[in-house]
Amino acid sequence: MIKHHISDKLLMAYSAGTLPEAFNLVVATHISLCDECRARLAGFDCVGGAVLDQRIAPAALSSGALSATLEKIKRGDGGGTAPDAPVTAAHGDTVLPGPLRSYVGGGLEQVQWRSIGGGVRQAILPTSRNASARLLHIPAGTAVPDHGHRGLELTLVLQGAFVDETDRFARGDVEIADEDMEHTPVAEAGADCICLAATDAPLKFRALLPRLAQPFFRI
Ligand code: ZN
Ligand code: ZN
Repeated sequence: MIKHHISDKLLMAYSAGTLPEAFNLVVATHISLCDECRARLAGFDCVGGAVLDQRIAPAALSSGALSATLEKIKRGDGGGTAPDAPVTAAHGDTVLPGPLRSYVGGGLEQVQWRSIGGGVRQAILPTSRNASARLLHIPAGTAVPDHGHRGLELTLVLQGAFVDETDRFARGDVEIADEDMEHTPVAEAGADCICLAATDAPLKFRALLPRLAQPFFRI
């Protein structure tokens, strides 16, 4: 059972197409696992469509704004959009949902992991650079160094679970962290934790060593 969902604010921004690609990817991946958020998104899409109809109809008569808008949509202005979320995972590898598979070029076995120390591995995904997305592999029982945030951080669990100062997060759960939050996520014993994390600003690490390594790992 998914307990931690995408906020209204983020779902609306996703529906409006104003999120950076990395955040789009987290939202699309969560939605592919979560009926509840998929239904809420459909609501926002309806409202957005109605607003857009009212906005473009009069303008189109006078200035060709409709075709300009359609052209803009076709070009994908506004941060890039993750592919629409298929509802079911592909056969075989069930850890990576559909929206993620196209970024990785397949399943978990295709992921190009790199060690970032302490047993933690990451794979940076190709998105537009205004925010970054990465897969994290955290061995069971291991902690990610404690850190704060300069911007927004979305972390979606794909396998296993992690616990931090706020709660427990398992497959499908999203943690939304911002400037006000400092935490030390620890992967639960039992299974390695695999997450998809997106950030729009570098993290603030307390300890010196992770701070020194930050530029190399683009965290
Ligand atoms: Zn949800
Ligand atoms: Zn964090």
